[in-house]
Amino acid sequence: MVVPIQPRGEKGWFMLPQAPEQAGYYVYGNVRGVAGTGHLAQYAHANMLSVIFWVEREWQAVDHRKFGIGNISVSDGSKYDHGTHMSGIEMDIRPVRKDKVVGPTAGCSYRDTSIYDQAATIKLVRIFLKHPMTRTILFNDPEVQKACGPRVKSWKKHDDHLHIAIRENLCPPA
Ligand SMILES: [Zn+2]
Repeated sequence: MVVPIQPRGEKGWFMLPQAPEQAGYYVYGNVRGVAGTGHLAQYAHANMLSVIFWVEREWQAVDHRKFGIGNISVSDGSKYDHGTHMSGIEMDIRPVRKDKVVGPTAGCSYRDTSIYDQAATIKLVRIFLKHPMTRTILFNDPEVQKACGPRVKSWKKHDDHLHIAIRENLCPPA
């Protein structure tokens, strides 16, 4: 599949670069269960791209595994498989696995202790929280919540991914 280098959608958001070889992340996910459509739901607000690129660099400095980035938004901000994910400022990522498996089927729940790397996931969450744009993270592992503080919260069906919400503006609207 050939995806244009940096498509820009109606909202002015850019598609996340589809995980070049040397990236610290890989991409997964789809739209409405259709295989090969993941990139269509990876349109990100400029702030989200900044967060991703910064976290990616910090992560690569401390770990050689790639973290998985799934759904962000579709290009026109319409509703698809989520109640949210319509503003380019929300993104799902996977918990870190103990192995280096990547790709669409490399899912991982915090309850699967044979593959889930809790310490590394805590490290990744702390990097996200260090960025001034990061607002909240939804993820159900109570140990991650304990280690990372009150901005990490439980939400139904968030055992196998972390929902990262960032700010659209650093200043409150006038
Ligand atoms: Zn989400």
